[in-house]
Amino acid sequence: MNSYLPAACIGVLIVDDLRIAREGLAVLLQRHNHIHVVGAVGTGTEAIDAALRLEPTVVIMDLVVRELGGIDAMERILQRLPQTRVVILSAVHTAEHVFRALRAGASAYVSKEAATEELVRAVNAVVLGDRYLSSHATALVIDGLLNNGMPRSSGERLSARSLARVTLDSIGDAVVSTDVAGEITFLNAIAENLTGWTREEAIGHPLGDVFRFLDADTRAAVHNPMALTILQNKAVARTANCVLIRSDGVEVPIENSAAPILDRRGTVTGAVMEFRDVSVARTMARNMPYLAQHDSLTNLPNRLLLNDRLGEAITLSDRYQRKLAVLLVDLDRFRQVNDSLGYAVGDGLLQSVTRRLFTCVRSSDTVGRHGGDEFLVLLWELRRPEDAAVTAAKILEALRKPHQINERELRITGSIGIVIYPDDGTDADTLMRKADLAMYHAKETGGDNFQFFNFEMKARAIERQSLQDGLHRAIEAHELELHYQPKLDLATREIVGAEALVRWRHPKRGLIPPVQFISIAEDCGLIVPIGRWVLREACRQMHAWQLAGLTPRCIAINVSAVELRAPGFVSGVRAILAETGLEPRFLELELPETTLIEDTRVIKDARSVGDVLRELKEIGALLALDDFGTGYSGVSHLKGLPIDTLKIDQSFVRDLTRNKDGIGIVIGLIGMGNCLNMRVVAEGVETREQLEILTAHGCPEGQGYYFSRPLPAEEFGRLLKRDAAGMHLPDQIAFETLLPRPEANQRVM
Ligand code: C2E
Ligand code: CA
Ligand code: CA
Repeated sequence: MNSYLPAACIGVLIVDDLRIAREGLAVLLQRHNHIHVVGAVGTGTEAIDAALRLEPTVVIMDLVVRELGGIDAMERILQRLPQTRVVILSAVHTAEHVFRALRAGASAYVSKEAATEELVRAVNAVVLGDRYLSSHATALVIDGLLNNGMPRSSGERLSARSLARVTLDSIGDAVVSTDVAGEITFLNAIAENLTGWTREEAIGHPLGDVFRFLDADTRAAVHNPMALTILQNKAVARTANCVLIRSDGVEVPIENSAAPILDRRGTVTGAVMEFRDVSVARTMARNMPYLAQHDSLTNLPNRLLLNDRLGEAITLSDRYQRKLAVLLVDLDRFRQVNDSLGYAVGDGLLQSVTRRLFTCVRSSDTVGRHGGDEFLVLLWELRRPEDAAVTAAKILEALRKPHQINERELRITGSIGIVIYPDDGTDADTLMRKADLAMYHAKETGGDNFQFFNFEMKARAIERQSLQDGLHRAIEAHELELHYQPKLDLATREIVGAEALVRWRHPKRGLIPPVQFISIAEDCGLIVPIGRWVLREACRQMHAWQLAGLTPRCIAINVSAVELRAPGFVSGVRAILAETGLEPRFLELELPETTLIEDTRVIKDARSVGDVLRELKEIGALLALDDFGTGYSGVSHLKGLPIDTLKIDQSFVRDLTRNKDGIGIVIGLIGMGNCLNMRVVAEGVETREQLEILTAHGCPEGQGYYFSRPLPAEEFGRLLKRDAAGMHLPDQIAFETLLPRPEANQRVM
């Protein structure tokens, strides 16, 4: 008993009147790795031409096609190419249609309503020399055999009966039928084999005498699908995970489907069930998961495994509140390569594409073969949907480079559809459907591009790209500038320090705040030169203020995780301090808390960040933990690190007056700082009320709009002068109103 495991690659020609139908079908079939759709045509004449030219192994044919009609076209194809197998895919079902098709040489008859899986099973079956009938068609044939409603003349009827018998016996699946009372009316040869009953013995017996069904896992009795189909008068799709218990007690894992048998007036006269022994397939899935779940050509996870992975990714994304991107990558005009250069070259190209894909993703991401020339890429732990665009662009570029296959240089491009979980859908099916649509959109726009299902995301991705392009020249074009925000001693209101915050004065867009370009700079590596510029400029400015007799305790700059981990960061700091003449003790580096956290958990060389911090301490610089409280680092973790200052994140300060827990949390954070012997600075102080609560609970320092917005250097210098003269913030309310509001034009974009 075969279980229809696909052997080599099967070339398939599709014939259908409707363009949409044949193209849709081509896409669905291409997903099956062993099927290559060699052509898709619309008329009978085209079908004959295409068949002779392409010599497909299987022709999938609609019965109703223009010029000739399906049956005639099939007969002519089979005359010239007797090896070819024809699968009829039809929307019309009468016994006559089925018999005519079979008599004319069709090997399979599948209803158009059937799932693609059934069509694929039919293709696999006919390639192995079996017949295949979808359960509807089987019901019609059985009806013919039992002579309830067959052709007019008695001669025809006779030949129909023998044809029916031969057909049913040459089906690779077991077929059994019953009357409405559930008594067996027919078994085919395979069913005899499987059940251990001969046709003659079985006929007239209740089905339950011959075999019973159980659920393979729960061992509970499963509804007899034939009774169900009679009751509901409609086909019953596959009962999964079913075991058939033969009368002798032997268990056979099966897959089945059932359909009602109707007479000419449409009355139910019985039911037919098709079933197949899936022990081989199930054992294989259990014992050889690798083979069953991987594509043999590329070694990538196949569709089956991809489905699993996608489900898994969704669960994990939920758990960790992360986004997930699904990229459906389809090669443009791959079929032409296959058709003109042969499958061997096509296969080589697919392998080359596979290698390229791996160069574009992180090792934690998933790359799989979705079928034919479609690949699926799952990007886990996405920070922003736009990040998927970066990967997509990388993939397109990688594909575009010439591929060397058998001394031949091939060029190919791809079309990519992108969907984001959970934005675009919350289940795998929806995501895949939308990825498909997005991919089609990419094809429509000429291929060699990517499209988000959500077009707003596309817009954001383009925006990001344009900023990235501009950022490349920003440093040389002197478009970056630093603004300074004071840090105050909350008790005395004296300015004790300044934080340098970078801005980008874009020639067209005006002043761009760092949130809009720092992450871009991090992604494309520009953060390193930008960070150096910031450091140099801040040190130079601080030194200049000192020379002018103004002495805030220190100048703070922000350092992102990428910079900190970049090689040569420490020596860069040392060099710039020497170059600008600023003493290291006047420099403070603010590191986001999340940098440290992620490092100890995710990255293996967690020690290295600690080492970098210690080296910075050795130079003599101060270290602050920025956005403290957002990264959940515990006291024990912080204890080991040479940190001088904790900056309580703005969100906690904001919550002080918003909810009850707010105060408790801030008290806790202040307490942690005290207990660790670190200075504590509250960020984002905006109101008098917040200030009062902070002071009441012993928070020593603060920073925020309540005192001053970040100011250009010159204005900050004036602020320092007033501060030195004893005019502290924000008591000189008049002072703020005198100032132009430098930040006011920030939201230009
Ligand atoms: P941050 O380090 O947490 O900086 C504080 C941010 O809060 C600044 O935004 C500041 O303008 C803003 N802010 C200050 N007081 C208040 C307040 O009372 N209320 C509110 N709502 N906001 C206040 P900015 O300048 O837009 O900077 C945003 C972030 O960009 C910074 O967050 C920092 O992470 C990053 N950044 C800024 N400059 C640099 C830089 O030179 N290098 C790196 N790597 N990152 C930088
Ligand atoms: Ca900061
Ligand atoms: Ca902060």
